[in-house]
This record gives sequence, structure tokens and C-alpha cells, in this order.
Amino acid sequence: MIEARPGSWIKQLKLIQWLLPLGLFLLASTYESVEHILRGQEGMTFNFNAEVLIFGIIGPVIVGLVLHWIRGQLVKLEEANRQIQALNSELEQRVAERTAELAQKNEALEKANEELKALDTLKSDFVSLVSHELRAPLTNINGGIELIAAERSHLSSARQEVLDILQRESKRLTRLVQNILDISLLEAGRLTNRPGFLPLRPFLCQLLKGRVPANGKHRLVIDVQTDLPPAWADETHLGDVVVNLVDNAIKYSPEGGEIRVAARPYNEHELVISVSDQGIGIPPSAQPRLFERFYRANNGTDREVYGHGLGLYFCRKLIEAQGGRIWVESSGIPGQGATFYFTVPACCEGVPNGADFAD
Ligand code: ADP
Repeated sequence: MIEARPGSWIKQLKLIQWLLPLGLFLLASTYESVEHILRGQEGMTFNFNAEVLIFGIIGPVIVGLVLHWIRGQLVKLEEANRQIQALNSELEQRVAERTAELAQKNEALEKANEELKALDTLKSDFVSLVSHELRAPLTNINGGIELIAAERSHLSSARQEVLDILQRESKRLTRLVQNILDISLLEAGRLTNRPGFLPLRPFLCQLLKGRVPANGKHRLVIDVQTDLPPAWADETHLGDVVVNLVDNAIKYSPEGGEIRVAARPYNEHELVISVSDQGIGIPPSAQPRLFERFYRANNGTDREVYGHGLGLYFCRKLIEAQGGRIWVESSGIPGQGATFYFTVPACCEGVPNGADFAD
């Protein structure tokens, strides 16, 4: 940076401010005197006096005043310049201080981030270890229960009741453990996504077979447009999402009613699958947070209906991992139910949707 040396040329200007008028005065008076003598005039004539006054005094005084004014402006300019430079260096110093501060903070944040990541991996590893360890005995327990259930008719009604409770509770536990395991894998980016060609009608019929008891209060309707192109999705993940939504539809419509699983084209490249029920519905105020982890809508059943608020979070994560989105529509009025929608990519044009696959 070039530093201006204050004042040196202003001092010179001050000198010029005095010397130039003086020089002009001497020059003009000498010239006028010589001219006066050459013309042979004698004494102080009016012309001589007037010319000396105008050219020798007023002229140099005006020049002196102009130079004084210019010098004043230059001094002000110099002062402003000096102030700007002072401000500039102060700013530079502040920026340097702030940068150093930020670098320090950044370093601390990076360190904290590393620690958090390590903790997160530890948590994921711990959760998957525990879930794996729980899954193995649960499989044995479920197998044992199934075995006893096969002999159900030989049991007294009290024992049948206990068996039902055991079956229900072990199913819940298995589902919870599976959900936790899947979520931990998903969050750790270790849940693999293997999309493939999936005709929706046969897939949904197979998946939901027996899911809604035929003799119960609920009635399942699978409504897939016949010429719908197949989906391009991971079969297991798509199945998990649909089962979660259908289980919720059953859970949150205690009075029973229709549960409709429908599939339609959404746009040129996507299909939309919806699951609707005629249950208690979801208040609009709860809808924006519905897909958050551990969130349970305050729709009057949270204490009565078993749940952990993980299912919809898991669904959202699975759907988003396939590039889709999930949302809900509900008036929140009990009896009008809720409809959950999610999108999946549509597959290859011209591939049949398995329309004649047995339902
Ligand atoms: P869970 O059912 O285990 O509590 P979910 O994540 O599946 O967890 O659902 C979150 C919340 O959303 C539920 O607690 C419930 O309040 C609400 N919910 C989900 N599905 C429905 C539905 N079909 N009808 C009414 N409320 C629902």
C-alpha cells in the first residue's frame, strides 16, 4: 500500500502562496516603472499609480487568496485521507481478530462434530447390537408361540386368552425391535436400497393378505388402476411403508370401517400410493410434525393406543431414500379418518402391471 506523506507538498504550497504574489508584485511594479521611465513620464501619474495598484498589488493579492483557498482544500483532503487510512487499518485489525476468533471456533466445532460423529456411530453400533441380540430370542419365542397356537383347540379358554396376549405382545416387541434396528441402519446409511420392477396390484394383494382380519370390524379394499405402470422400488422397503400405514389405519380406527389402499399415476415419472381409513383422524395442528421421530399426535388415543411415534418417521426416511415424498390429509374430525399418500418412481414404459396375477 502506498502511504501518503502528509504535509510535505502542502508546506511547499504555503511557500509558493507567499512567494508567487511577491514575485508577481515585484515583476509588475518593475515592469510598470520601466514602462513609465521609457515613456518619459515623470512623477507619480494617475495611470502609473492605477496600474501598479491593479497589476502589482490587487493581482498578486487575488493570486495569494486563491492559493490560500486551494491549500485549505488540500489540507482538508489530506485530513480526510488520513482518517480513512486510520479507519482502514482499524478495520483490517478487527477483521484479522475476528478471523482468528472464527478459526478458533471452527476448530472447536470441527472437534465437537468429530466427537458427535464418533458418538453417533457408537450409538448406532450399540442399537444394532442390542436389536440383533433381542431379535434372535424373539424369533425363538415367536416360533414357540406359533407351535402352541397350532394346538389352540386343545387349550382351555383361559389359556387361549393368555396365548392371544402372548402372541400380540411378542408381535409388538418384534415390530419395535425391527423398527429400531432398521432406523439405526437407515440413519447410519447402512440400509441398502435395491430398487426393482414391482407390479403394484399383485404386490399389494400378496403383502396385505390376512393383514386385516376378514371377520373383524375393518374391511380392506385394494384399488389399483389396471393399466398402471409398475413401480421402481425396493420391495422390502415399500412393503414396510405400506404395512406401517395399514397397521396405523387399523389402530387408529377403533370403530372399524373401510381401509382403502389405492395406487394411481402421480405424474409422468411417479406413482402415488394412498392408505385411507375412517378412523379418528389427525388434527391439522399435529400434521406438520407427524413424520418426526417419536412424535405422537394428540388425537385423544395416545395413551389408549400402543405406539412409539417411530413408524411414520421410518416411513418418511424410507420414502425419501427412494426419492419420493410422503404426506397426510385429514380434517381431524373423528369418523372422517385420514389418508396418507406417498410417491414412488414409476417403472419402464410398456411393462405390464401383472393385471392378471391372482389376487
Ligand atoms: P405410533 O403409531 O407408534 O405412535 P407412528 O409414527 O406410526 O407411531 O404415528 C405417529 C402418530 O401419528 C400416532 O401416534 C398417531 O397419533 C398419528 N397417526 C398415525 N396414523 C394415524 C391414522 N391413520 N389415524 C390417526 N392418527 C394417526
